Amino acid sequence: NTPLQQEDPEIYDLIQKEKYRQYSGLELIASENFTSQAVMEANGSALTNKYSEGLPGARYYGGNEYIDQIENLCRDRALAAFNLSPEEWGVNVQPYSGSTANFAALTAMIQPNDRLMGLDLPSGGHLTHGYQTAKKKISATSIFFQSMPYQVDRTTGLIDLDKLEENARLFRPNLIISGASAYPREWDYARFRKIADEHGAYLMSDMAHISGLVAGQEAESPFKYCDIVTTTTHKTLRGPRAGLIFFRKNKDANVPKSETLEARVNQAVFPSIQGGPHNNTIAGIAVALKQAASPEFKLYAKQVVANSKTLAATLIKHGYKIVTDGSDNHLILWDLRPNKLTGSKVERICDMASITLNKNSVCGDVSAVTPGGVRVGTSALTSRSFKEDDFVKVGEFLHRVVQIALAVQAKAGSKMMKDFVAALEGNEEIAQLKKEV
Ligand code: PLP
Repeated sequence: NTPLQQEDPEIYDLIQKEKYRQYSGLELIASENFTSQAVMEANGSALTNKYSEGLPGARYYGGNEYIDQIENLCRDRALAAFNLSPEEWGVNVQPYSGSTANFAALTAMIQPNDRLMGLDLPSGGHLTHGYQTAKKKISATSIFFQSMPYQVDRTTGLIDLDKLEENARLFRPNLIISGASAYPREWDYARFRKIADEHGAYLMSDMAHISGLVAGQEAESPFKYCDIVTTTTHKTLRGPRAGLIFFRKNKDANVPKSETLEARVNQAVFPSIQGGPHNNTIAGIAVALKQAASPEFKLYAKQVVANSKTLAATLIKHGYKIVTDGSDNHLILWDLRPNKLTGSKVERICDMASITLNKNSVCGDVSAVTPGGVRVGTSALTSRSFKEDDFVKVGEFLHRVVQIALAVQAKAGSKMMKDFVAALEGNEEIAQLKKEV
C-alpha cells in the first residue's frame, strides 16, 4: 500500500479512476496532454515544502540554495528551448498558471484603464485577452483595462486583420495580444507588429496552445516580433500546469533599471499578483523544457501537426465542415451546424464512448451558450505514439459518433437537449463504439 492509499483511500481511489479514464479513452482535448513520469516526480517532490518569495539570489526566506539553482536552470532551459539569447530575452518562470501569467504581463505593460485588443472569445480567443459580453465585463482583463476585441471573418474563419487595423485606428490600443485557445491557423506576427507600431502599442503573443510546436519548430516563432510572449506549460509543451512570461530585455541605457520591462514583469508577478513560487512546479517545468529541447520532442511536434492534418482530411472526406478547411497546428475546429447538431450533443455521445473533446463556438454562432461545433486536438494522443494511420481510425470513430447523434436526434423527435438525453438511454451502438475505442 502507498502512503496515500493508507491515509486516504477515498482520494487514492478517485485518482486511480481518473488515471484509468485518461488512459483507457481517446483524449482529444486540445489544451491537454500527458506529461512524463519524470515531470510528475519533480512536481510531487519535497520542493512543495519550501517558501522562496523573490528571485534567485534575492529571496525573502533563508534556505534557498538549491531552489535558486533549480529556478536558474529552469530559466536557462526556457530560453534555450525557444532559441533565445540571454542578452536579448529574459523569462519569469513563477506564474502559477497561464491566466496569472497573462494578467501579470498586462500589469507590467499597461496602466489601469489603458486600451487592449485581443481575439474575442467566440472567435477562439482566451478569457484573459479582455473578454467581455455586450452586457458584462467577464475577465479581470476587461474589468481593469478597456477592451475592444477583434474577430475572425465569419465566412473564412481567418482572423480579419484588415478590420483589426481599421478598429485599431479608432481605438488606439496600448497593447495588442495575438494568440488563441481555438485557432487552427498560423499567425501573421509581422502584420500584428505593423498594426501595433502604428499606435506605439506593445505586442504580446500568448502562445499557450502552440508553444510545444514553436519549441519543436513546427510553428512560426513569435519572438522576432513581440515585446512579451506568455505561455502555459501544460498544453503542447507537455509540462506541469503553470505559466511563463518571456520579456524583451532593455537596450536603452537611458531607461532606469526599475522601469525596464524586465523589472516590471518581475514586480508584476511578485509581489503585485502572486506570493511564493511553487518550486515543485518550477522543477517540473525545468524537466519538461529539457525534454522540449531534445530531438525526440522535435519528432513529436512534427507528428502532432501531421496527425492534425490527417484527422482534418479524414473528416473533410466524410463531407464535414472544418473551419478554415484544415489545420496548421494541433487543433481542428469542427463546425457541426451544417449537420444540424450542436457541439454539446456530440460532446455528450463522445463522453459516453470514452472519447474526450469539448464543445466550442464556431464563427458566426448566434449564442455562446449553445456552441455550434467541437474543438479537437492531437497532442495528447501523439504523446501516446499515435501516428497518421491511428488518426484515420480516430476520424472514423468520430464519423460514427455523428451518425449515432443524428439517429438519436431523429428518435428524440425534437432538438432539445433533454429529449436527446432521454433518447440516448440504452443505445447499443454507443456501447459497441466504447468497446472498440
Ligand atoms: N492562454 C490561452 C491561449 C489558453 O488557451 C489558456 C487555457 O486554456 C490560458 C491562457 C490559461 O491557462 P490556465 O488555465 O493555466 O490559467
